[in-house]
Amino acid sequence: MKIARVAIDVPLNTYFDYTAEHISAEDVGRRALVPFGRRLVVGVIVGITELPAAGDESPKYKLKPIKEILRDAPRLPKEIIKLANFCSAYYHYPLGQVLAMILPQRLRRTKVARDLAEPCYTLTDEGRTALEALPQRAAVKRKLLAALQAQNFIPRSELMLLSPSASSVLRTLVEAAWVKQSALPLSAKRSTSTLPAQATAPPLNTDQQLAVETILGAPPGFTPWLLHGVTGSGKTEVYLQVIAATLARGGQALVLIPEINLTPQLEARFQARFPDVGIVSLHSNLSDSERLKHWLMAQGTAEQGAAQIVLGTRLATFTPFTNLQLIIVDEEHDSSFKQQDGMRYSARDVAVFRAKDINIPIILGSATPSLETYYNAQQGRYKLLELKARAVQDAAPPTVRYLDLRREKLLEGFSAPLITAIKQRMKRGEQSLLFINRRGFAPVLLCGECGWLSGCPRCTSRLVVHLKEQRLRCHHCGHEERLPHHCPSCGNLDLAPVGQGTQRLEAALQKLVPEARILRVDRDSTRRKNALSEMLEKVHAQEIDILVGTQMLAKGHDFPKLTLVGVLNADGGLYSADFRASEHLFAQLLQVAGRAGRAADSGEVLVQTAFPEHALFTALQHGDYAEFAKAALIEREQAGLPPYSFQAMLRAEAATLDSALRFLRAAAALAPEAKNIQVYDPVPALMARLAGNERAQLLVEARSRGALQKFLDAWMEALQTHKTRNVRWALDVDPIDT
Ligand code: ADP
Ligand code: ZN
Ligand code: ZN
Repeated sequence: MKIARVAIDVPLNTYFDYTAEHISAEDVGRRALVPFGRRLVVGVIVGITELPAAGDESPKYKLKPIKEILRDAPRLPKEIIKLANFCSAYYHYPLGQVLAMILPQRLRRTKVARDLAEPCYTLTDEGRTALEALPQRAAVKRKLLAALQAQNFIPRSELMLLSPSASSVLRTLVEAAWVKQSALPLSAKRSTSTLPAQATAPPLNTDQQLAVETILGAPPGFTPWLLHGVTGSGKTEVYLQVIAATLARGGQALVLIPEINLTPQLEARFQARFPDVGIVSLHSNLSDSERLKHWLMAQGTAEQGAAQIVLGTRLATFTPFTNLQLIIVDEEHDSSFKQQDGMRYSARDVAVFRAKDINIPIILGSATPSLETYYNAQQGRYKLLELKARAVQDAAPPTVRYLDLRREKLLEGFSAPLITAIKQRMKRGEQSLLFINRRGFAPVLLCGECGWLSGCPRCTSRLVVHLKEQRLRCHHCGHEERLPHHCPSCGNLDLAPVGQGTQRLEAALQKLVPEARILRVDRDSTRRKNALSEMLEKVHAQEIDILVGTQMLAKGHDFPKLTLVGVLNADGGLYSADFRASEHLFAQLLQVAGRAGRAADSGEVLVQTAFPEHALFTALQHGDYAEFAKAALIEREQAGLPPYSFQAMLRAEAATLDSALRFLRAAAALAPEAKNIQVYDPVPALMARLAGNERAQLLVEARSRGALQKFLDAWMEALQTHKTRNVRWALDVDPIDT
C-alpha cells in the first residue's frame, strides 16, 4: 500500500500520512483532499512512501485514506516544493502553511475548481462565411456568431448569458469549426493607460551598454548582480534589454517590484516594448480568479495562453514557471519586500535563493541599495554594476540646499525661501513636489490648558487629526473617533492641532499660493481604485502645479516638468531608536530628490532641517550613496550590527505587557547553550501597545548565519513543546524593524 505525505495548512511543522491507492510519483506537488480531524481540507502531497514492509504488522494507528487527488491544476513543480522547504527551514515556519501561502486562494478551497481558467472563443473564417448564409430562424447560432464577430475573444461565461441554450449551441458551433476556443491575445486587453511609454529602445549610453553586455556576457547560470544606478539613470532600460535577450532564448522573466501602485505604469512600459509577449501581473489587488489565471499563465497552462513575463509584488517570488531564466528585483532595498506577518520572509532573499537553486542570473536594482546588499557586493558575493549618470541627455543631478530651521521662521510649516521657490516654478510653468511623510491634517491634537494629547486608546501612538472628515484616526490600528469640541480632560474649548500633515500643507498652500492647482497624493486621497493613475495622468498633462504627498510619490514616478522638491521635515529619522532609520531616511530623500529635474529642466531640492551639518545630509548633497554607505557600514561594524551580525527576533503579544515579557523570559530560559550567540533581555517593543495588544520582543544575535540557524533549530524545537497560554508569538528571522 502506498502512503502519501501531505502538508496541511495547520501550525504544526510536520506532514501527515494518508493511504493512497492510485497514486504515482507524478502526483507529488498535487493538491489532495484529505480528512483532518472532523474536517475535509486541502493539502499538498510532498512525498510518497510505501507502507512498512511485511513483518511490521502493528502500525501504531490506522491511517486514513486520501479522499481525492486533485488533478484539475498543474502540480507544484519540484523546484517550488524545494523553495517551500527552504523557507520552512530558514524562517522556521510550518511547511503546510508555506505551501498554502504559495497556492492561489482558489486552489486552497475544498471545492474542485473545474472552471479553473475560463476559455475564450473566437470566430473562424468559416464561421464568418456561415453567419452570412444562416437563416433567420437559427436565432441562437446567429446571436453567438454575431457577438463574436463584433468582439473577438469572448469568455465562455459571457456567451452563456446570451441564451439559455447557448451551451449546446456553442458545442455545435465548435464541432462545425465555425468557432474555436482560443487564447486571448494579451496585448489586446491592456489597460488603456495614456502614460507615455516608449515603444522603441533608445540607444544605450556607455554605462548601460556596459551593464547589459556584462550581464549577457557572463557564463550562464547563477550570478547575483547589483545594478546600482542613480535615480533616472535608466535601470529599467537595462532590465528591458536583458529581458529581451532572455525571451529570445525562450526563457521567462520574473520582475519583482515593491508596490502595486507601480504595476500599471510598468506594465504599460513593458507591453509597449514587447507588444507580442504575454505579460501578466501578480499582486494583491487582483481578484481571486484573475490571480489564479495569471498564476496558471506563468506555467503556460491557462486556456488564455502563456506569459513570458510576470510583474509582481513579493508573493510573486513563489510563482511556478515552466522555464524561468531571469529574476529582477527592482528597488531591492524597499521594505515592502519584507512580509511582516505570517511567514516573515524577505522576498529579495528568497528570490536570491531561488535563482541560485535553479541556476539563473538575478539582478537586484536600486539607487540606494540596502546596506546588506551593498556589503555583499563589496565582499564580492554580488557583482556590482554602476550607472553613474542620469540617462536623459542634459539631465543634471538636482542641486540640494538646506533651509536651517534654527534660523528660518516657519509660516504654516513653510520657510520663506521655500515659498519663493514654489512661486518661481509657478511663473515658469514648472511643477513642484512637497514631501512630508505624514498624512492627515496634523499628527496630534493638543489642549493648551492642561496638556492633554490625543492618544490612541489601543496603541502607544497619537491619534492624527483629519480635519476634513472631522475625525481623529490612529494610523496604526485604525481606531477612529469624532474630533472633540472640547478637551476631554479639562473641558477647555481651545484645542490646537500640532504639527503638519499632508492635508494641512495642502490647505496652507491654497492660502499662500491661491492661483496654484494643488494635488494631494497620499493613502487617503488615492483609496479609490484607479485614483492614483488618474492623478498621475493629470500631473503628466500639466494640469497640476504643486504636488503634496507622502512617500507614495517618492518611488518610481517620472515627472519631466517637475523641477522643485521641497522636503518639509525629515529630522525624525535622524534620532530614531531604530538603527535602520537613517538608512531609510537617506534612501527616501535620495529617491524623492530624484523626482526633480528628470528631463532637460534641471532640478532643485530644498530640505528644511534643524541639522544641516549632519553627515547624512552632506552625502545627500553630494548625491553620493557610496559616501553615505561607507560611513554607515563603519558604524554598523563598530556596533556589531547587521550586515556584520545576524539577527532573529522573537516577538510576543498578549493582553498585558507582563505576560508577554514573562513568556519571553521563559523562552530565553529554554535557549540552548551556544557559543557566539547573544540572547538579549526581553524588552517592550518600540510601539509597545498596538490595537489593544501589549507587545514585547527578544533579540538574538549571532556572528554567522549558520550559527544562528543552528541555534534557532534547537530553540524552536524546545519552544514548540512549551505550553503558552494567552500569548501569541512569532519568530522573525532577519528582522528589519527592531
Ligand atoms: P531608473 O529606473 O534608473 O530610475 P529609467 O529606466 O526609468 O530610470 O529611465 C529614466 C528616463 O530615462 C526614462 O524616461 C527613460 O525612458 C530614459 N532613458 C533611459 N535610458 C535612456 C537612454 N539610453 N537614452 C535616452 N533616454 C533614456
Ligand atoms: Zn485640557
Ligand atoms: Zn491605535
